[in-house]
Amino acid sequence: MAKGLEKHRERERKLSLFGKDLTRRSRSCCELCGASGRTLEIYELGPIPAEPEYDRCLFLCPECREPLKNSAALQAERWHFLKEAVWSEERVVQALAARILDRLGRTESWAAELLEEVYWDEETEALIREEPL
Ligand SMILES: [Zn+2]
Repeated sequence: MAKGLEKHRERERKLSLFGKDLTRRSRSCCELCGASGRTLEIYELGPIPAEPEYDRCLFLCPECREPLKNSAALQAERWHFLKEAVWSEERVVQALAARILDRLGRTESWAAELLEEVYWDEETEALIREEPL
């Protein structure tokens, strides 16, 4: 058995243990766009640690999760709901929303303006800056 695969499975297993808490926290809605009735899956905020961390995990719908795999090709017009997500009570949700806005803000003035309106505490600010999207 390939060692890498084994490790991957073990990591997936650990991540799946967060499912219950994430379901409760998200109230079964996508934590970015708020969609309900979708299949939610875990998205990990980078840089991804060797051991999964609950505080770096978000529950996202496929429509939010898939595009993040190629952040250079994000469709700006679908992300306007981030104006709510940046005010989330969850630090990790704020951080991901901010990173997406930061990326979109290079070409979209509404995203750049929104970023300027929001204030974060130091810890959130640090998390946002750890790694650009
Ligand atoms: Zn979503």
